[in-house]
Amino acid sequence: MSTRILPEFDLLAPQSVTEALDLLATYKDRVTVMAGGTDVLVAMKSRFRTETVMILSGISGMDYIEYDATAGLRIGALATVGQLLDHADVKKKYRALWEAADIFATPQLRNTATVVGNLLRASPAGDCSCAIYAIGGKLLLQSKTGRREVDVDDLWLSYGVTARMANELAVELLLPAVGKDTRTAFQRVTRVNEDLAKLNMAVRLDMSGKICKTARVAMGCVGPTPRRLTGIEGQLEGREITEAVLQKAADTVASEISPIDDIRSTAEYRRDVAGVFLRRTIQQACAGAR
Ligand SMILES: Cc1cc2nc3c(=O)[nH]c(=O)nc-3n(C[C@H](O)[C@H](O)[C@H](O)COP(=O)(O)OP(=O)(O)OC[C@H]3O[C@@H](n4cnc5c(N)ncnc54)[C@H](O)[C@@H]3O)c2cc1C
Repeated sequence: MSTRILPEFDLLAPQSVTEALDLLATYKDRVTVMAGGTDVLVAMKSRFRTETVMILSGISGMDYIEYDATAGLRIGALATVGQLLDHADVKKKYRALWEAADIFATPQLRNTATVVGNLLRASPAGDCSCAIYAIGGKLLLQSKTGRREVDVDDLWLSYGVTARMANELAVELLLPAVGKDTRTAFQRVTRVNEDLAKLNMAVRLDMSGKICKTARVAMGCVGPTPRRLTGIEGQLEGREITEAVLQKAADTVASEISPIDDIRSTAEYRRDVAGVFLRRTIQQACAGAR
């Protein structure tokens, strides 16, 4: 049942990472972490029940986005989707992520929703998640006992479930440095911008002249979590991206996905348009400056 009224809950508001980690160590899976709350609050108004919420907004210094040509892009756990749009290096070097932020919901949502929250929601429709999956990256998780990095390839275990443990706080997302020959692009199909995707897709192509050296291809809304299309990646790697290569990829993509019927679309539609969508996203990456 969905209602506009939030159930009662206790609110914890740590003012530092140390305090947040102490609370996580005490409450473990009895507390729900909340960053922007654009997923958590919606879930609480529906079927999700939690007695305690820990809001992160009182912790200062976690809303940074910093680029370094060697280390790559560091995105703090409280950096919003809107901040991506204002960052010149994101726009220039991580085009797929910038494009995902550009179509993301509304200005109000973009200024509230965090990039890290998008990953940890573990939704197959997450737009930043799809772009980040194609680009590659690592999520830094911290607990009272130490830090560990989880590769985005290993983050989503099933629908809504991640590799984060209950006593861990995500503190930073790190995207690798990209060279001048890296091309990325993102596309999404929706009814209106405020809707989640019917289908989304992102690609990363590392080129050597006209040859695609390595490829990462991610598609969302075609399985319980965002999906990497490794068969398609294999078709692109080591080849010039010609019309024949694009056609073969478009013809075979349906065999790599397992979409379902849901409130936003049908499995049949998703399977039917996936090929055209794949072709357009790759062409957009090839055409883009980066
Ligand atoms: C009207 C509307 C439109 C939307 N449109 C889009 C859209 O266009 N595209 C899209 O992809 N999504 C969309 N969403 C979904 C949502 O806005 C995003 O998933 C958003 O990025 C979530 O970020 P948040 O900071 O609000 O996360 P929250 O709701 O605070 O948290 C999401 C999840 O991450 C966990 N979490 C967050 N931060 C941490 C942390 N630091 N450590 C540990 N766990 C953490 C929470 O416990 C929760 O499980 C929409 C939502 C609404 C309500």
